[in-house]
Amino acid sequence: AKVGVPAETRSGERRVALVPEVVPRLLDAGLEVYVQSGAGRHAYASDEDYRAAGAKIVDGDVLADSDIVLTVQPLEPAAARRLRPGATVIGFLAPSLELDTIRALRDREATALALELVPRISRAQAMDALSSQALVAGYRAALVAAERLPKFFPLFMTAAGTVPPAKVLVLGAGVAGLQAIATARRLGAVVEAYDVRAAAAEEVRSLGARFIELELETQDGAGGYAKEQSAEFLRRQRELIGQHVAASDAVITTAAVPGRPAPLLVTTEMVERMRPGSVVVDLAAESGGNCELSRPGEEVVHRDVLIWGGRNVPSQLPVHASQLYAKNVANLLLHIIRDGEIRFDFDDEIVTGCCVTHAGEVRQESIRQLVE
Ligand code: NAD
Repeated sequence: AKVGVPAETRSGERRVALVPEVVPRLLDAGLEVYVQSGAGRHAYASDEDYRAAGAKIVDGDVLADSDIVLTVQPLEPAAARRLRPGATVIGFLAPSLELDTIRALRDREATALALELVPRISRAQAMDALSSQALVAGYRAALVAAERLPKFFPLFMTAAGTVPPAKVLVLGAGVAGLQAIATARRLGAVVEAYDVRAAAAEEVRSLGARFIELELETQDGAGGYAKEQSAEFLRRQRELIGQHVAASDAVITTAAVPGRPAPLLVTTEMVERMRPGSVVVDLAAESGGNCELSRPGEEVVHRDVLIWGGRNVPSQLPVHASQLYAKNVANLLLHIIRDGEIRFDFDDEIVTGCCVTHAGEVRQESIRQLVE
């Protein structure tokens, strides 16, 4: 089968779905690989690099001739309509937002596998692009906080006196939050963190940060994910977390609940209690924001506190974000390939979990309702 990698067209996207290093694995599985000229440019993968790895470079459109298309962002609806009928597409699909794309994929009888929906079971860990990209975002969030803060992160003992370390608070200790903690710790900050999942406490402590215990009854969700908490819970949580926010130099927020708007954790009033020069880095800005004042892709200054709102943060480190992403995509692709051809097994929980469209139908009930 022919695998095609188009250049990403969504504004600001710098990643690429396949990097040269991963091409040989696809060739070994009996696939042919076609990469649109310039597709890897923003991730510093040149046409020459892809050619050397055994891929063929295509000038112009790669969609119409591919059996399998690998993307980072969902195809635009018009691009989806150019697919070969019955093609397979693997990438992020933002299935509850990109309804026109999903309709186009369905009408093209395409099989669309959405990486967001790969089940979080140990067998599928190597395909978990949400985790690999969250790791990139969490690392970047800590660096942004360190860079924007008008203070040192580490403790300094100098002849001119001792400078205490910065205090960093991380709210949400999933994949991104844990990486933000680890990075802030490496830079020498004193870190405390909170998450509604009790299981996060041990992971936070193992990174040398303090876990904040709140006197709150939390409800755990399914599949290792957080559940959406009640309005009353969130009100109490804000009350209890307020003093920690006020005492911090930098607050990094990463709290999310799959398929739901991000919980509001840091209000304007809480920001107003922070010291001038403090920083809030909100990785959840795009999904509604953990901080009331954050705007995705913008830096807002409110009473001398900087609020940095993330927008496609993994794309800000396109080289390693693409490398990890490409491995996730290749692992999912090779999972469905036998002897160079696609074999879908709809008894396989990985395939049924992430397959959004197939043979002219939307296969996920919740998405079907949105589309129709
Ligand atoms: P996520 O991005 O959906 O959410 C980030 C964090 O926000 C989560 O830890 C969540 O508990 C937390 N959160 C939600 N509401 C909150 C609130 N009101 N206050 C504070 N925190 C809140 O989650 P994620 O990082 O993708 O993953 C979460 C967990 O899932 C992981 O830590 C891990 O335990 C599990 N996981 C399992 C697998 C696997 O088995 N393959 C893979 C990845 C993650």
